[in-house]
Amino acid sequence: MLIDIKKITSEGLSLSDHIELDENLLIEDEGYFIEDLHYNAFFIRHGDQIKVKGKIKTSLSLRCIRCLENFELKVNSRFDIILFPVNLIHISNLHLNDDDMEYIFYEGNKIDIEKILMEQVNFFVPFNPLCHPACKGICPVCGVDLNHESCKCENSFNEMSLLIDKVKR
Ligand SMILES: [Zn+2]
Ligand SMILES: [Zn+2]
Repeated sequence: MLIDIKKITSEGLSLSDHIELDENLLIEDEGYFIEDLHYNAFFIRHGDQIKVKGKIKTSLSLRCIRCLENFELKVNSRFDIILFPVNLIHISNLHLNDDDMEYIFYEGNKIDIEKILMEQVNFFVPFNPLCHPACKGICPVCGVDLNHESCKCENSFNEMSLLIDKVKR
């Protein structure tokens, strides 16, 4: 959905909706949306700059890097960004360092709200998704999911490391 920046005044523009986002744009290949994205966003203009404050809420299914099972990740996050017209990039005295705000550039007279929301969702996705911090993963030898069952390879592996310990002593 594109927003005409002329609609954004110094008084601000408030938007609230739920939308279906394209899961192909998720940073994780095996991830998908379990539910639509709910968002609200408040746009306010300061000259050429447009500030956006908002909230996103959705639920994702991601694949755990250890056990390779999908798990649910609730996304509930706020964002605070500033949009600059793309032609300002060349102005060297632009101060882009205050706060923890993010700076995003827009081109022409339209802002792509879906693109902004998708970026916010992707910021929330962990770099190495884990179903649980203590996920045991799968046995590299027999492929058993060690969260649900144990296997003999694990035992022999432990016995082996005990033997190695004895040898060292
Ligand atoms: Zn896992
Ligand atoms: Zn095994």
